[in-house]
Amino acid sequence: MAVRMRTYYDKAYKGKKKDFLNLLKERIDSGRRTFVVTANPEIFMLGRKLPEMNEALSDEETLIVPDGIGVIRGGKQLGYEFEERIPGVEICEELFVYADQKGRSLYLFGAEKSVLEDLAARVRREYPNAVLAGCTDGYVQDKEKVFREIVEMQPDIVLVALGAPKQELLIHRYYRRGEKGVFIGVGGSFDVLSGRKKRAPSFFIRHNLEWLYRIASEPKRLKRFWDSNIKFLFELRKEKHGNR
Ligand code: UDP
Repeated sequence: MAVRMRTYYDKAYKGKKKDFLNLLKERIDSGRRTFVVTANPEIFMLGRKLPEMNEALSDEETLIVPDGIGVIRGGKQLGYEFEERIPGVEICEELFVYADQKGRSLYLFGAEKSVLEDLAARVRREYPNAVLAGCTDGYVQDKEKVFREIVEMQPDIVLVALGAPKQELLIHRYYRRGEKGVFIGVGGSFDVLSGRKKRAPSFFIRHNLEWLYRIASEPKRLKRFWDSNIKFLFELRKEKHGNR
């Protein structure tokens, strides 16, 4: 049977960012194992295409938040209302602050080596009480092995920046082997958090045009944008009119 976007929308978190962050912090405090998908249309489309990604997204334990405005606008077409975007990059920053306040441990996995080094230096400098359990760049040979070792280490927070679907598939495949940990796939967030890439100016963020800024500053994203976002809208339309 064809995968329905409604399956993902039904379970997506629709409340305020602040409340979601409180929920995550409670889970960190209680040691409850958690997997968060920071969704954009590309991720939902990958769920339609790849059975394992569909499993990861549909799993009742997986939390899905609307990282991009495309997910929110698309949801509207199907009758779903979201309070606001919950971007992965903002979740990371909040969790750095929380880890610092509570002395929680943190593992950073992904991005290029030099980007990761810059981010690790920033974390050590700005969040000195956060325990940096380790960091590994995203271009190592055996990512599966590295990830399994991270799970065994049991850090409180694991941020995985390998891009979709790699990050979601890895997390979903292995995170339940450990007993605790909040695991989040954060895409290109390390590039921004390290200071390497600029996030869109606040005008773009405020007007929900961050996607436009990203395409304009990296035109190679245009094909990806077309492949996922535009097709996504067609799929939603079909679903709305009962063609699946
Ligand atoms: N990346 C990685 N290993 C790989 C491929 C990608 O660590 O084998 C990193 C890449 O350096 C970048 C992130 O994964 O930091 C993906 O970023 P992208 O901007 O594509 O993700 P988005 O935020 O658009 O999902």
